Amino acid sequence: MNGYGQWRGICIALFGILILIACQSTVSPEPTPVPTGTLGTTPMPTTLPLPFSGVDSLCPVGPTPCAPTAPTPGAVSTSGSSSRTSVEQGSDEISTSVTTSATQPLTITILYDNNAYDERLKAAWGFAALVTYQHRTLLFDTGGDGPALLGNMRALGIDPAGVEDVVLSHIHKDHTGGLGALLAVGARPVVYLLPSFPADFKRQVGRTARVVEVTPGQALSEGIFTTGEMGDRIREQALVIRTDCGLVVMTGCAHPGIVQIIARAQELFDAPVYLVVGGFHLRNKSKSEIATIIEGFRQMGVRKVAPCHCTGDRAIAMFASEYGDDFISAGVGRIITVEPSGVER
Ligand SMILES: [Zn+2]
Ligand SMILES: [Zn+2]
Repeated sequence: MNGYGQWRGICIALFGILILIACQSTVSPEPTPVPTGTLGTTPMPTTLPLPFSGVDSLCPVGPTPCAPTAPTPGAVSTSGSSSRTSVEQGSDEISTSVTTSATQPLTITILYDNNAYDERLKAAWGFAALVTYQHRTLLFDTGGDGPALLGNMRALGIDPAGVEDVVLSHIHKDHTGGLGALLAVGARPVVYLLPSFPADFKRQVGRTARVVEVTPGQALSEGIFTTGEMGDRIREQALVIRTDCGLVVMTGCAHPGIVQIIARAQELFDAPVYLVVGGFHLRNKSKSEIATIIEGFRQMGVRKVAPCHCTGDRAIAMFASEYGDDFISAGVGRIITVEPSGVER
């Protein structure tokens, strides 16, 4: 081999090594292992404290408006003990192009709600719903009380270890309070939360589970998306599921406004809204305000509604009257199945 050939060989080898180094440096970190270390001088438990400390606001039960928790804007701290904690950011790219075969029925099981439905289950203030779709099992919110959540799951024969993803709509305890108990019994889901959640909360969850901060329109699994963080005061995300019937929008407490959330879902996914389920947060609204909101639902072409949690009795009754057969009575233990042909009651 002549001089030129030798130099060419050396250059190719060096280029290969550089490519190898570049690839290794872009590999995502593995999910954080369960810690056994200490935080300062305080021994750290291997499971989360129950309930999480510092997150004690509830969605309003009565006329008192929600007390906002102090969100921590910006990046997650990675200093000190949080070096074991992994918080990932979702891609900024809107992922609405994910294809969905949509051959599987969507099943929504309300596991936690203050409205009674299945008498075997405990009704308590808060919201959680299990979503199974396209071979994936996701828990949207976790209710306010771990034992009540786990008890309701047990009553329905649902194994907590089967929960693959948890989506937290917002920081209020009646939606996040059951997460610690779920992780304590061995569930290891990916936890999707808002970038504005307090850093302490993210750190605590990140010690046991993989934590992902959501972005608008992000795909969480096949056919299941998030609106991303919405609202100015109490920030919240809603779930958007693409089905053959149209979009299914699931809200925790709808603090940013239920009409605004539906509009965001339509804007992101450019599809008709088939069903809206969850808390609509209309307890303190007047009859005329509720009527305007229902009119907004009709104008946006929402086909079916299943209001519960913080919607309020008056608003639920008005939706039932307006929607008739397309009103779905929702409460703890209610199972809603969306077949390609529509809701199976
Ligand atoms: Zn709330
Ligand atoms: Zn709530």
